[in-house]
Amino acid sequence: MSADIVIIGGGIIGLTVAHKLLRLGAKVSILERGYSGREASWAGGGILLPLLPWDYPNSVTQLTQFSNQLLPELTETLKQETGIDPEYRVSGMLVFPVIGDQEVRFVGAKEWCAGNAFPMKEIYINEIFPKLKLVGCTDNSALWLPSVAQVRSPRLLQALKRSVELSGGSIIEHTEVKGWRMSQNRVKSVITDQGDYSGANYIVAAGAWSREILDKYALKIDIYPVRGQMLLFKVKTGLLDKIVLQGDFYLIPRKDGYILAGSSMENTKFDKSVTADVRKKLLERAHKFIPVLSEKTLVGHWAGLRPGSPENIPIISRHPIFDNLYLSSGHHRYGVTMAPSSAHILSNMVMNNSQPFDVAPYQWPT
Ligand SMILES: Cc1cc2nc3c(=O)[nH]c(=O)nc-3n(C[C@H](O)[C@H](O)[C@H](O)COP(=O)(O)OP(=O)(O)OC[C@H]3O[C@@H](n4cnc5c(N)ncnc54)[C@H](O)[C@@H]3O)c2cc1C
Repeated sequence: MSADIVIIGGGIIGLTVAHKLLRLGAKVSILERGYSGREASWAGGGILLPLLPWDYPNSVTQLTQFSNQLLPELTETLKQETGIDPEYRVSGMLVFPVIGDQEVRFVGAKEWCAGNAFPMKEIYINEIFPKLKLVGCTDNSALWLPSVAQVRSPRLLQALKRSVELSGGSIIEHTEVKGWRMSQNRVKSVITDQGDYSGANYIVAAGAWSREILDKYALKIDIYPVRGQMLLFKVKTGLLDKIVLQGDFYLIPRKDGYILAGSSMENTKFDKSVTADVRKKLLERAHKFIPVLSEKTLVGHWAGLRPGSPENIPIISRHPIFDNLYLSSGHHRYGVTMAPSSAHILSNMVMNNSQPFDVAPYQWPT
């Protein structure tokens, strides 16, 4: 089978770039090993900001801030077009200091927020939110980031998938890419367990598996799996309406009374199983913050494999040798957030359009 552009991987990165390229007039096929939108992207919490954004390099800020400009319109368009609501919502985020560590964790916060026109207020939560009963916070002081938004990742994926199909894109599931046929400095076709697929251009968007798929053509890319486990609680609506963060632990409230608690960062290679140990730790931390979040209200526990990368900087680039091969992967902890901007700049590369900012930091290392 032949398409203008063959995308390998139907996660948030593959689906958003397909969505964008279809709008630019391309003919797109996605090859997906399992069901699309069921790996890391499905497992994610959907917070649309790096947890402590001042701790990250400018190349991460650039992508996350640009995505945040695109997300309100993208999610609204998807909702109108497909009838599936990705539940984009500005819920704000309260950031609590880690005991004995306040100065270290918040160093650079004020400067970063001022430099990026990002609203932030130092508050005592009982003054600003007297009804919010959070037991786990240390001395009641917190940073309040009112503009932080969230999406419900599984619904965003369903909406994207539907939109890609409605726009004429083809999503070919249960088709695993196994290898490459090259001819001089071009890809001729990909080898799958369902036969060969060919196109004018190829995009690898296979998340944590991207390096393995590229095999010897990966050159020096450093993308590796990082397991993250998450818990899901169901409580009455209105118990919590803001994202709460302390250190690496967060609670994300959905509108209908679900609360997510996450997440672990584990090096377990490609093992995606959940563990009793992490479940216990997350449960204890959730319970400490909001005592009603106990075993009784726990309704889910899952894990996903993030496409880890040094400093969370993804590679969004043409291959240094093969002219028609591209990669968008390594979004690590923030792939849901960075997906729209990554799709925007990758489709500009494929279509030879100009870029909104310097994309050199995302180049394929050789
Ligand atoms: C617990 C957890 C919490 C997270 N929270 C957030 C958050 O709050 N905010 C945020 O922005 N990000 C978050 N993330 C990170 C985010 O989910 C990832 O960065 C993002 O999903 C990566 O998307 P992807 O499309 O690259 O990978 P994936 O979603 O993993 O998609 C890759 C796809 O490639 C397919 N594939 C693999 N090999 C092959 C092959 N050989 N042939 C064909 N197809 C193949 C896979 O089946 C998969 O569908 C979180 C992640 C986890 C695990």
